[in-house]
Amino acid sequence: LAKQEGRNTYRFHTPALSRAASERLSLETCLRRALTEHEFVLHYQMLIDARTEAVIGVEALVRWQPAGKALVPPGIFIPIAEETGLIVPLGEWVLSTACKQGKAWMDAGIPALIMAVNLSVRQFQSVDVVELVRRVLADSGFPADRLELELTEGMLMDDAKQSIATLNALKELGVRLSIDDFGTGYSSLAYLKRFPIDKLKIDQSFVRGLSDDINDREITATIIAMSRVLKLDVLAEGVETEQQLAFLRESGCDYYQGYWFHKPEPAADLQKRLGDFPRKIYPTG
Ligand code: C2E
Ligand code: MG
Ligand code: MG
Ligand code: MG
Repeated sequence: LAKQEGRNTYRFHTPALSRAASERLSLETCLRRALTEHEFVLHYQMLIDARTEAVIGVEALVRWQPAGKALVPPGIFIPIAEETGLIVPLGEWVLSTACKQGKAWMDAGIPALIMAVNLSVRQFQSVDVVELVRRVLADSGFPADRLELELTEGMLMDDAKQSIATLNALKELGVRLSIDDFGTGYSSLAYLKRFPIDKLKIDQSFVRGLSDDINDREITATIIAMSRVLKLDVLAEGVETEQQLAFLRESGCDYYQGYWFHKPEPAADLQKRLGDFPRKIYPTG
Protein backbone atom coordinates (compact mmCIF):
# COMPACT_ATOMS: atom_id res chain seq x y z
CA LEU A 1 0.00 0.00 0.00
CA ALA A 2 2.81 2.37 0.94
CA LYS A 3 4.46 1.66 -2.39
CA GLN A 4 1.26 2.41 -4.23
CA GLU A 5 0.84 5.66 -2.36
CA GLY A 6 4.41 6.68 -3.17
CA ARG A 7 3.80 6.05 -6.81
CA ASN A 8 0.58 8.02 -6.80
CA THR A 9 2.36 11.00 -5.28
CA TYR A 10 5.00 10.86 -7.99
CA ARG A 11 2.35 10.54 -10.65
CA PHE A 12 0.73 13.67 -9.29
CA HIS A 13 3.86 15.67 -10.13
CA THR A 14 4.67 14.34 -13.60
CA PRO A 15 1.66 12.40 -14.77
CA ALA A 16 2.71 11.09 -18.18
CA LEU A 17 6.32 10.27 -17.41
CA SER A 18 5.45 8.70 -14.12
CA ARG A 19 2.75 6.51 -15.54
CA ALA A 20 5.12 5.22 -18.21
CA ALA A 21 7.84 4.67 -15.60
CA SER A 22 5.60 2.88 -13.17
CA GLU A 23 4.04 0.72 -15.87
CA ARG A 24 7.51 -0.22 -16.94
CA LEU A 25 8.57 -1.00 -13.40
CA SER A 26 5.55 -3.18 -12.80
CA LEU A 27 6.07 -4.91 -16.14
CA GLU A 28 9.66 -5.60 -15.14
CA THR A 29 8.55 -7.04 -11.81
CA CYS A 30 5.94 -9.17 -13.57
CA LEU A 31 8.52 -10.44 -16.05
CA ARG A 32 10.88 -11.50 -13.29
CA ARG A 33 8.07 -13.35 -11.62
CA ALA A 34 6.97 -14.82 -14.94
CA LEU A 35 10.33 -16.52 -15.29
CA THR A 36 10.20 -18.17 -11.86
CA GLU A 37 6.50 -19.01 -12.28
CA HIS A 38 7.13 -20.62 -15.67
CA GLU A 39 4.78 -18.32 -17.54
CA PHE A 40 6.83 -18.22 -20.74
CA VAL A 41 5.97 -20.59 -23.56
CA LEU A 42 7.45 -21.27 -26.96
CA HIS A 43 5.40 -21.41 -30.12
CA TYR A 44 6.90 -22.87 -33.26
CA GLN A 45 6.49 -21.84 -36.89
CA MET A 46 7.37 -24.04 -39.84
CA LEU A 47 10.18 -23.24 -42.25
CA ILE A 48 9.26 -24.46 -45.74
CA ASP A 49 11.46 -25.73 -48.57
CA ALA A 50 10.56 -23.83 -51.74
CA ARG A 51 11.00 -26.67 -54.19
CA THR A 52 9.07 -29.37 -52.35
CA GLU A 53 7.02 -27.22 -49.97
CA ALA A 54 8.07 -29.68 -47.29
CA VAL A 55 8.77 -28.51 -43.76
CA ILE A 56 12.50 -28.49 -43.07
CA GLY A 57 12.42 -26.94 -39.64
CA VAL A 58 10.75 -24.57 -37.23
CA GLU A 59 11.51 -21.25 -35.59
CA ALA A 60 10.97 -21.03 -31.84
CA LEU A 61 9.12 -17.85 -30.83
CA VAL A 62 8.64 -16.93 -27.19
CA ARG A 63 5.32 -15.76 -25.69
CA TRP A 64 4.34 -14.75 -22.21
CA GLN A 65 1.23 -16.33 -20.77
CA PRO A 66 0.32 -14.45 -17.57
CA ALA A 67 -2.11 -16.53 -15.49
CA GLY A 68 -5.69 -15.87 -16.57
CA LYS A 69 -4.70 -13.23 -19.11
CA ALA A 70 -4.17 -13.04 -22.85
CA LEU A 71 -0.91 -14.14 -24.44
CA VAL A 72 1.65 -11.32 -24.65
CA PRO A 73 3.76 -11.12 -27.86
CA PRO A 74 7.56 -10.82 -27.63
CA GLY A 75 7.58 -7.35 -29.22
CA ILE A 76 6.20 -6.08 -25.90
CA PHE A 77 8.54 -7.75 -23.42
CA ILE A 78 11.77 -8.62 -25.27
CA PRO A 79 12.93 -4.96 -25.36
CA ILE A 80 12.31 -4.64 -21.61
CA ALA A 81 13.99 -7.96 -20.95
CA GLU A 82 16.96 -6.67 -22.96
CA GLU A 83 17.21 -3.45 -20.99
CA THR A 84 16.87 -5.07 -17.59
CA GLY A 85 19.21 -7.97 -18.27
CA LEU A 86 16.38 -10.44 -17.78
CA ILE A 87 17.04 -11.53 -21.35
CA VAL A 88 20.02 -13.52 -20.09
CA PRO A 89 18.04 -16.09 -18.05
CA LEU A 90 15.07 -15.83 -20.45
CA GLY A 91 17.27 -16.40 -23.49
CA GLU A 92 18.89 -19.37 -21.82
CA TRP A 93 15.46 -20.81 -21.06
CA VAL A 94 14.39 -20.32 -24.70
CA LEU A 95 17.51 -21.97 -26.10
CA SER A 96 17.35 -24.88 -23.72
CA THR A 97 13.59 -25.44 -24.12
CA ALA A 98 13.83 -25.31 -27.93
CA CYS A 99 16.70 -27.81 -28.02
CA LYS A 100 14.92 -30.18 -25.63
CA GLN A 101 11.80 -29.95 -27.79
CA GLY A 102 13.84 -30.65 -30.91
CA LYS A 103 15.34 -33.70 -29.24
CA ALA A 104 11.90 -34.86 -28.07
CA TRP A 105 10.61 -34.68 -31.66
CA MET A 106 13.59 -36.70 -32.86
CA ASP A 107 12.93 -39.28 -30.15
CA ALA A 108 9.28 -39.38 -31.28
CA GLY A 109 10.50 -40.47 -34.72
CA ILE A 110 10.11 -37.13 -36.44
CA PRO A 111 13.06 -36.67 -38.81
CA ALA A 112 15.50 -34.10 -37.52
CA LEU A 113 14.06 -30.67 -38.08
CA ILE A 114 16.10 -27.50 -38.02
CA MET A 115 15.40 -25.63 -34.79
CA ALA A 116 15.87 -21.90 -35.33
CA VAL A 117 16.31 -19.78 -32.20
CA ASN A 118 16.53 -15.99 -31.99
CA LEU A 119 19.45 -14.59 -30.02
CA SER A 120 19.23 -11.12 -28.53
CA VAL A 121 21.99 -8.51 -28.75
CA ARG A 122 22.87 -8.90 -25.13
CA GLN A 123 23.07 -12.67 -25.42
CA PHE A 124 25.21 -12.55 -28.54
CA GLN A 125 27.59 -10.00 -27.07
CA SER A 126 27.92 -11.74 -23.71
CA VAL A 127 31.32 -13.29 -23.13
CA ASP A 128 29.98 -16.79 -22.62
CA VAL A 129 27.50 -17.16 -25.47
CA VAL A 130 29.61 -19.89 -27.07
CA GLU A 131 29.88 -21.77 -23.78
CA LEU A 132 26.11 -21.41 -23.28
CA VAL A 133 25.33 -22.91 -26.68
CA ARG A 134 27.86 -25.70 -26.15
CA ARG A 135 26.37 -26.55 -22.77
CA VAL A 136 22.74 -26.46 -23.96
CA LEU A 137 23.59 -28.77 -26.87
CA ALA A 138 25.40 -31.17 -24.55
CA ASP A 139 22.62 -31.15 -21.94
CA SER A 140 19.78 -31.58 -24.43
CA GLY A 141 21.46 -34.03 -26.76
CA PHE A 142 20.14 -32.03 -29.72
CA PRO A 143 22.53 -32.27 -32.71
CA ALA A 144 24.50 -29.07 -33.29
CA ASP A 145 23.95 -29.15 -37.04
CA ARG A 146 20.17 -28.91 -36.52
CA LEU A 147 20.39 -25.78 -34.39
CA GLU A 148 20.21 -22.50 -36.28
CA LEU A 149 20.91 -19.29 -34.40
CA GLU A 150 19.22 -16.16 -35.73
CA LEU A 151 21.16 -12.92 -35.41
CA THR A 152 20.45 -9.45 -36.74
CA GLU A 153 22.60 -7.11 -38.79
CA GLY A 154 22.59 -4.57 -35.98
CA MET A 155 24.12 -6.90 -33.42
CA LEU A 156 26.73 -8.13 -35.91
CA MET A 157 27.80 -4.73 -37.20
CA ASP A 158 27.99 -3.23 -33.72
CA ASP A 159 31.49 -4.61 -33.33
CA ALA A 160 32.07 -6.47 -36.57
CA LYS A 161 35.56 -7.75 -35.71
CA GLN A 162 34.40 -9.23 -32.42
CA SER A 163 31.32 -10.62 -34.18
CA ILE A 164 33.46 -12.54 -36.65
CA ALA A 165 35.36 -14.15 -33.78
CA THR A 166 32.15 -15.12 -31.98
CA LEU A 167 30.52 -16.40 -35.18
CA ASN A 168 33.59 -18.50 -35.96
CA ALA A 169 33.54 -19.98 -32.47
CA LEU A 170 29.83 -20.78 -32.85
CA LYS A 171 30.47 -22.37 -36.25
CA GLU A 172 33.13 -24.55 -34.64
CA LEU A 173 30.40 -26.01 -32.45
CA GLY A 174 28.71 -27.06 -35.69
CA VAL A 175 25.60 -24.89 -35.47
CA ARG A 176 24.01 -23.00 -38.35
CA LEU A 177 23.82 -19.21 -38.40
CA SER A 178 21.32 -16.93 -40.09
CA ILE A 179 20.76 -13.20 -40.35
CA ASP A 180 17.20 -12.33 -39.38
CA ASP A 181 15.19 -9.33 -40.67
CA PHE A 182 17.76 -8.94 -43.43
CA GLY A 183 17.64 -5.64 -45.30
CA THR A 184 16.46 -3.54 -42.36
CA GLY A 185 19.93 -2.94 -40.94
CA TYR A 186 23.00 -1.66 -42.67
CA SER A 187 25.36 -4.53 -43.23
CA SER A 188 28.56 -3.76 -44.97
CA LEU A 189 28.92 -6.08 -47.95
CA ALA A 190 32.59 -6.49 -47.10
CA TYR A 191 31.64 -7.89 -43.69
CA LEU A 192 28.73 -9.89 -44.99
CA LYS A 193 31.25 -11.77 -47.10
CA ARG A 194 33.41 -12.44 -44.05
CA PHE A 195 30.71 -13.47 -41.60
CA PRO A 196 30.57 -17.28 -41.58
CA ILE A 197 26.78 -17.36 -41.94
CA ASP A 198 24.55 -19.87 -43.69
CA LYS A 199 21.33 -18.05 -44.45
CA LEU A 200 19.70 -14.66 -44.98
CA LYS A 201 16.11 -14.19 -43.86
CA ILE A 202 14.52 -11.42 -45.96
CA ASP A 203 12.61 -9.10 -43.67
CA GLN A 204 8.86 -9.35 -43.88
CA SER A 205 8.50 -5.62 -44.58
CA PHE A 206 9.83 -6.27 -48.11
CA VAL A 207 7.76 -9.40 -48.58
CA ARG A 208 4.62 -7.49 -47.61
CA GLY A 209 4.99 -5.16 -50.60
CA LEU A 210 5.80 -7.83 -53.19
CA SER A 211 2.43 -7.73 -54.94
CA ASP A 212 2.31 -3.98 -55.54
CA ASP A 213 5.54 -2.19 -54.63
CA ILE A 214 8.19 -2.14 -57.34
CA ASN A 215 10.90 -1.20 -54.82
CA ASP A 216 10.11 -4.15 -52.57
CA ARG A 217 10.21 -6.45 -55.58
CA GLU A 218 13.59 -5.09 -56.67
CA ILE A 219 15.03 -5.26 -53.15
CA THR A 220 13.81 -8.82 -52.64
CA ALA A 221 15.13 -9.98 -56.02
CA THR A 222 18.44 -8.30 -55.24
CA ILE A 223 18.79 -9.99 -51.85
CA ILE A 224 18.04 -13.35 -53.47
CA ALA A 225 20.61 -12.71 -56.22
CA MET A 226 23.16 -11.57 -53.65
CA SER A 227 22.59 -14.75 -51.63
CA ARG A 228 23.43 -16.75 -54.76
CA VAL A 229 26.69 -14.83 -55.19
CA LEU A 230 27.63 -15.24 -51.53
CA LYS A 231 26.52 -18.91 -51.61
CA LEU A 232 24.05 -18.39 -48.80
CA ASP A 233 20.61 -19.91 -48.37
CA VAL A 234 17.82 -17.38 -48.55
CA LEU A 235 14.42 -17.45 -46.84
CA ALA A 236 11.50 -15.04 -47.19
CA GLU A 237 9.74 -14.15 -43.94
CA GLY A 238 6.09 -13.18 -43.60
CA VAL A 239 4.73 -14.89 -46.71
CA GLU A 240 0.98 -14.37 -46.52
CA THR A 241 -0.42 -14.40 -50.05
CA GLU A 242 -0.30 -16.38 -53.25
CA GLN A 243 0.97 -13.33 -55.18
CA GLN A 244 3.92 -12.95 -52.83
CA LEU A 245 4.64 -16.63 -53.18
CA ALA A 246 4.48 -16.44 -56.98
CA PHE A 247 7.06 -13.67 -57.04
CA LEU A 248 9.35 -15.53 -54.65
CA ARG A 249 9.08 -18.70 -56.75
CA GLU A 250 10.06 -16.81 -59.88
CA SER A 251 12.96 -15.15 -58.08
CA GLY A 252 14.36 -18.46 -56.90
CA CYS A 253 13.99 -18.04 -53.14
CA ASP A 254 15.08 -21.22 -51.29
CA TYR A 255 12.81 -21.19 -48.23
CA TYR A 256 9.59 -19.62 -47.04
CA GLN A 257 8.08 -18.80 -43.68
CA GLY A 258 4.72 -17.15 -43.11
CA TYR A 259 1.05 -17.40 -42.32
CA TRP A 260 0.34 -18.66 -45.85
CA PHE A 261 1.92 -21.93 -44.74
CA HIS A 262 1.65 -21.95 -41.00
CA LYS A 263 1.02 -19.72 -38.00
CA PRO A 264 3.19 -20.24 -34.90
CA GLU A 265 1.58 -22.63 -32.43
CA PRO A 266 2.46 -24.65 -29.33
CA ALA A 267 4.63 -27.75 -29.71
CA ALA A 268 1.82 -30.25 -29.18
CA ASP A 269 -0.41 -28.69 -31.86
CA LEU A 270 2.46 -28.45 -34.30
CA GLN A 271 3.40 -32.06 -33.69
CA LYS A 272 -0.11 -33.21 -34.68
CA ARG A 273 0.02 -31.09 -37.80
CA LEU A 274 3.45 -32.38 -38.82
CA GLY A 275 1.80 -35.64 -39.77
CA ASP A 276 -0.09 -33.85 -42.58
CA PHE A 277 2.99 -32.19 -43.99
CA PRO A 278 5.61 -33.79 -46.15
CA ARG A 279 9.01 -33.51 -44.54
CA LYS A 280 12.40 -33.05 -45.97
CA ILE A 281 15.57 -33.75 -44.10
CA TYR A 282 17.89 -30.82 -44.35
CA PRO A 283 21.28 -31.76 -45.80
CA THR A 284 24.06 -31.81 -43.24
CA GLY A 285 27.47 -30.20 -43.56
P1 C2E B 1 11.39 -12.62 -35.96
O1 C2E B 1 12.48 -13.43 -35.38
O2 C2E B 1 11.64 -11.95 -37.23
O3 C2E B 1 10.16 -13.62 -36.04
C1 C2E B 1 9.17 -13.57 -37.04
C2 C2E B 1 7.95 -12.85 -36.54
O4 C2E B 1 7.02 -12.69 -37.61
C3 C2E B 1 7.17 -13.61 -35.46
O5 C2E B 1 6.52 -12.64 -34.64
C4 C2E B 1 6.14 -14.36 -36.29
O6 C2E B 1 5.01 -14.75 -35.53
C5 C2E B 1 5.81 -13.31 -37.30
N1 C2E B 1 5.28 -13.86 -38.54
C6 C2E B 1 5.54 -15.04 -39.13
N2 C2E B 1 4.89 -15.18 -40.30
C7 C2E B 1 4.17 -14.05 -40.46
C8 C2E B 1 3.28 -13.58 -41.49
O7 C2E B 1 3.00 -14.24 -42.48
N3 C2E B 1 2.73 -12.32 -41.31
C9 C2E B 1 3.02 -11.57 -40.20
N4 C2E B 1 2.44 -10.38 -40.11
N5 C2E B 1 3.87 -11.98 -39.23
C10 C2E B 1 4.42 -13.20 -39.36
P2 C2E B 1 6.60 -12.73 -33.07
O8 C2E B 1 6.50 -14.15 -32.64
O9 C2E B 1 5.63 -11.75 -32.52
O10 C2E B 1 8.07 -12.27 -32.75
C11 C2E B 1 8.48 -10.95 -33.01
C12 C2E B 1 9.97 -10.81 -32.80
O11 C2E B 1 10.30 -10.99 -31.43
C13 C2E B 1 10.79 -11.86 -33.55
O12 C2E B 1 10.92 -11.49 -34.91
C14 C2E B 1 12.09 -11.77 -32.78
O13 C2E B 1 12.85 -10.68 -33.21
C15 C2E B 1 11.60 -11.54 -31.36
N6 C2E B 1 11.57 -12.83 -30.65
C16 C2E B 1 10.65 -13.79 -30.66
N7 C2E B 1 11.01 -14.82 -29.87
C17 C2E B 1 12.24 -14.50 -29.37
C18 C2E B 1 13.17 -15.17 -28.50
O14 C2E B 1 12.97 -16.29 -28.04
N8 C2E B 1 14.32 -14.49 -28.21
C19 C2E B 1 14.59 -13.27 -28.74
N9 C2E B 1 15.76 -12.68 -28.41
N10 C2E B 1 13.76 -12.62 -29.57
C20 C2E B 1 12.59 -13.23 -29.88
MG1 MG C 1 13.67 -14.78 -36.07
MG1 MG D 1 14.08 -10.71 -35.35
MG1 MG E 1 12.46 -11.60 -38.80
